[in-house]
Amino acid sequence: MGLLSHRVERSEIKAGDHIYTWRAGYTYSHHGIYVGGSKVVHFTRKKEAGTAGLDSAIAVSSLLSQGPDECPTFPDCGFQLPDSGVVLTCLDCFLRGGALHRFEYGAPPAVFLAKLRGGTCTTACADGGPDAAVRRAMHLLQNGFGDYDVFENNCEDFALYCKTGLLPAAGGDDIGRSGQAASAVGVPLAALLSTPFKLFATGPLGMAAVTAGVYCAGRYITDIGVRKDVVKVEVENLAAHLGWRRAKAEEAVKKQQQQQQQPPPPPEKKPNSRLLPLKRKREICV
Ligand SMILES: [Zn+2]
Repeated sequence: MGLLSHRVERSEIKAGDHIYTWRAGYTYSHHGIYVGGSKVVHFTRKKEAGTAGLDSAIAVSSLLSQGPDECPTFPDCGFQLPDSGVVLTCLDCFLRGGALHRFEYGAPPAVFLAKLRGGTCTTACADGGPDAAVRRAMHLLQNGFGDYDVFENNCEDFALYCKTGLLPAAGGDDIGRSGQAASAVGVPLAALLSTPFKLFATGPLGMAAVTAGVYCAGRYITDIGVRKDVVKVEVENLAAHLGWRRAKAEEAVKKQQQQQQQPPPPPEKKPNSRLLPLKRKREICV
């Protein structure tokens, strides 16, 4: 396994490993937790009404490419509760012919910053060992993981949570947890300057990293191992945590809508002294 590629053979992965594969020609990576027995638990979009079975679940999740019509290996591959985006499939259906990679935990910041793109490693450490990751994944298979959101709650966030037990604290700045989100969402300069990242701005490595652009820095700040606004959430309490976040988001939207409905304040009448010279005023008075 190369330091920067993370490519592994099937025989190398163990239950509890966070694995991923590139899809659609390296456009995006799909992540899951390997639970043993050639099975993977991963997070996708929910089943759409009127369609059923493995193909729809995976095809909808893939966004870009179609999966196989039927699983050739396991008849009950694609197990998924209604109204849940968490799905259990065999390794073949997860990989869909793609190469197998293992996500790296506890990556040193230098290695993390050297990565060409997000979504392959984190500086965070796995929590509780492989059993804990499998336990969280299986619990979420039975209980769901909230709504899929490509920026805030995607397959990588799911696997990161299963491994670390960490979620952004409710009411955090919501700049996205995973590398995938950071790849797509720019991070404002203000966020850059207020993070531990500036520690790296000294010395040759720091300067190189800074000139590498906001992209790398953005990934570093949003990395769950670097952020300070993350909390450890027990899997049993996760539903309440996600529900709270959603309620808060809905409240914010409502507030925004109310503000938009209010009539705009009347334009302020400013005394326009420059256009009304004293001379003219005197004429009016007379
Ligand atoms: Zn399958």
